[in-house]
Formats: sequence, structure tokens, C-alpha cells
Amino acid sequence: MEIPCPRCGAYTRIDRIFCLRCRHRIIPLTQYDLAVEDFIYPPDKDGIESIKDLEPLPQIIKHLLIEKKLERLRSQLARRSIRVKPLSSLGSIIRRCGIMLGLKVLPESFIIQSETPQAFTFGTDEEPVLAISSSMLEIMNERELEAVVAHELGHVKSGHLVYHTLAELLVRGASLSLSLMGLDLAAEPLRLLLLAWHRDSEISADRASLLVTNDLEVIKSMFSKLIRYSEEGFEGILDSVSELFKTHPTYLNRIEKLEEFYDSVQFRNARAKIERRITLLNAISPICRFCGARKPLLSLFCPSCGRSQV
Ligand SMILES: [Zn+2]
Ligand SMILES: [Zn+2]
Ligand SMILES: [Zn+2]
Repeated sequence: MEIPCPRCGAYTRIDRIFCLRCRHRIIPLTQYDLAVEDFIYPPDKDGIESIKDLEPLPQIIKHLLIEKKLERLRSQLARRSIRVKPLSSLGSIIRRCGIMLGLKVLPESFIIQSETPQAFTFGTDEEPVLAISSSMLEIMNERELEAVVAHELGHVKSGHLVYHTLAELLVRGASLSLSLMGLDLAAEPLRLLLLAWHRDSEISADRASLLVTNDLEVIKSMFSKLIRYSEEGFEGILDSVSELFKTHPTYLNRIEKLEEFYDSVQFRNARAKIERRITLLNAISPICRFCGARKPLLSLFCPSCGRSQV
């Protein structure tokens, strides 16, 4: 069964959840979908709130710098990379992770030619961009690749992208333009907050990765491959911005945090929610999967033909 995308009008199969053309949801988010509160690492949440308290400064910086930076990154990617096709195997992994994590929109995704195994996300909550290096695709098996993608989409779900870009800008390259605007001193408290927050944001993204894969061993083997194949060691490989931070949590520390989460009630509840959402993949739909008649989105029975949608 196909329905038109509310945004661009292209027809997409209901079980794909996201429009193949514009990447936005064709099936809206419901209470069955994973919410940020279901998995976010509390210090990450507190950090974002402290950063938001420093507004309107981030607003100024956002408008002056982020737009320009994103424009540059996008045009670099467009020239030096291959766009991921939505129905390719990588495209399917991205979509599956997006369904499980309940994203609003799938990222515009690219493969960059690079010997270094890398994956990073940037952009905004409304227009996320994901880049994965070709060597990452070579060294990871499908499950490990899913762990990598889920980590990155965990950043998207948690609303990290703008703050990661901001962190990168305030540490590298932006000092000159900031001092030209007389904002360098004003930006210092924000820079310190971003530095402190950054490691906690990684923990939330790791949690998303564990929720999707449901397997600590997959994440451990993904981490150890990153260490093995990277000349620079593990730090900074999963996100470009991480390279800038000496405080980046070590591999062992991250694994320890994941083991705690894996044993928690919060993890079991969030994982159960994801499994239920997958069971209801075809049922949460504005039309009946059998007769095609319109039905209430969350109704598990078709009012026209009476059949169960599950
Ligand atoms: Zn669309
Ligand atoms: Zn990350
Ligand atoms: Zn029906």
C-alpha cells in the first residue's frame, strides 16, 4: 500500500515510514515512537539546558556562523562524495535506524572517499546531514554499520547537531570572526559549557546505538575495529567534532556506561517500545493495509472491512 507524502506528494509504501524523495515522515510520530526522554543521558539533557540558558548569544552565533559553515560543508560534500540511494543496503540501514529511533526526518546522506573510518552528522534538526567514509563501509559488517548509523542518528534524535557545530566553530576557526564582532569574550562561558557537555552527548548517542542493535558485543566489536583501523587511535573517529576535545570519553569509559544502561529498567522499557513499534509497522497508518479505505491512524481494526491491521 502506498500513500502520498504530505510534504512533496511522492507516493511511498507505508512500511517505509519516510518519503523516498524528500526524506520526511509519511506516517506522523505517535506515542508508540521512541522519545528523547526514553533514553537521553541525564547530564546531556542538563548540559543542553545550560547552553540554552545562555541565549540569545547562541542565536546570534547560529545565524552569523552556522549557516555559512553548513553551506560550505554541504557544497564540499556535493562535490566530493556519493549520495546514498534510499533503497541501497546503506539506505535501508539508515531508514531502519530512523524508524526505530523515531526521527522526524531522515538525514541527507553521503559516502565520502576516505581511508579513515569516519562517520559524522551535522546540519540542523530540520535538515540533518550524515556522512560516512568509504573505509567505514569496508571494515564494518552490516550489524556494526547499523551501530555506527544508530549512534549518528542518536545525535540527530537528541537535538545535538546545532550544538556540535557551535562547539566546533567556537574551538576552531571562529575566534577571528568572533573578535571582529566583539563577541569573543561573551562567547567564552558558552565555549566552556560546550566543552563540558560534549562528552555527555556521546553517551546519549551510544545509548541510541545500543537500543537499535540490542547487542553490546556488536558495539564493542565496532569500537575495536575503529581503534584498530585508525592511525590516530579511537578518539574523535566517530565524530569530526570530537577530534577537538581532549576530554572525549575513552572507549572503556563508554563501554562501562553502556553496560550500566543495558542493565537498567530504562533500557528494557525503551527497547520494548521499539519492538512494539516494529510490530505495528503496517498497522499505524491512515489507510487499511487490506482494503485501502481510510482509517484512524492508531486504530488497529479497519472500520470498513473489519480486519486486524497487526
Ligand atoms: Zn516527500
Ligand atoms: Zn558521536
Ligand atoms: Zn479494510
